[in-house]
Amino acid sequence: MSAIIINGITKKFGDFTAVDNVSFSVEKGELFGLLGPNGAGKTTIINMLTTLLIPTAGNAEIAGHNLKCDPDLVRGSIGIIFQDPSLDSALTGRENLEFHAMMYDIGKEERKKRIPDVLGIVGLSSKADILVENYSGGMKRRLEIARGLIHYPKVLFLDEPTLGLDAQTRRTIWNYIKTLNRDYGTSVVLTTHYMEEADYLCDRIAVIDNGRIIALDTPSGLKSLLKGEKVSLELKEKNCELRDKLLRQPFVREAVLEGNILSVTIADGERSVAEIFKIACSLDADILAVNIHKPSLEDVFIHLTGSTIRDKEGDKNSARHERIRRRMMR
Ligand code: ADP
Ligand code: MG
Repeated sequence: MSAIIINGITKKFGDFTAVDNVSFSVEKGELFGLLGPNGAGKTTIINMLTTLLIPTAGNAEIAGHNLKCDPDLVRGSIGIIFQDPSLDSALTGRENLEFHAMMYDIGKEERKKRIPDVLGIVGLSSKADILVENYSGGMKRRLEIARGLIHYPKVLFLDEPTLGLDAQTRRTIWNYIKTLNRDYGTSVVLTTHYMEEADYLCDRIAVIDNGRIIALDTPSGLKSLLKGEKVSLELKEKNCELRDKLLRQPFVREAVLEGNILSVTIADGERSVAEIFKIACSLDADILAVNIHKPSLEDVFIHLTGSTIRDKEGDKNSARHERIRRRMMR
């Protein structure tokens, strides 16, 4: 059963196409990630799916409701955690939740039950009556997650849930997201430009670049787009015979010799490394050093787009700075 079905959703800002004919489905109970550099169109997709922006074309069904025909029903079935913080820091955590619950027309008795419940989910029960201005960055993010859960949504959208948080706080947030997905069965769609976040959290990932999906699969499926693990051998001297013999092995997909460095792409990890050693030994090839590189989502992104996520963001930023500079010179 699908929690979300998206059909050719598109958003244009003037002549600029920010989201270009995007289609995908999210299964019930799935933790789904939109991974891409800044400016890829992730927030624009989330804003359309959460009824905040009207698509230029395309439509979607969310928790069984049609986005175009029944936006109110869609809004009632989803929770949103925005990229930019949106808490009232002059209120306590509990007051923030009270206020939000009232906006969702949740009655007093029900609020009494739900507020402690969602505070418990994100581990903030003991901090509920402290003013939000005294919360740490991680606590604020957890409170925003609690707020997104107050009406027990079927689908939760999280836009860059750990942006700007330190590594340890990020892990804590990851665990809360995993828990509410696993234990409460909430379907989750999150956006991120952190590879390791997508890799750790998501059942499936859509890689977004320039408003388009360029790949969609499980983290391991995406990694298998690369041909396998890379083993680099530093040899005492250049050895073409070793390269040629390795190329004849069924587990070797590629073997490239550059000077005395032999890079071998292999199908199945550690086992093949032992085999490579045996073959090197049988040819009396001296190995000075070995490096095994497991494919990461970063490698997948480079494979798909030809550059790293960070470089892409660099492009966008330098393009933006260039535009601002030109405007100032006018
Ligand atoms: P992401 O969330 O992946 O960083 P966004 O969805 O925020 O990307 O933005 C995608 C592209 O659309 C960017 O180039 C951004 O500058 C542009 N964009 C977003 N919102 C608007 C808007 N309201 N008007 C014009 N351009 C916009
Ligand atoms: Mg964004």
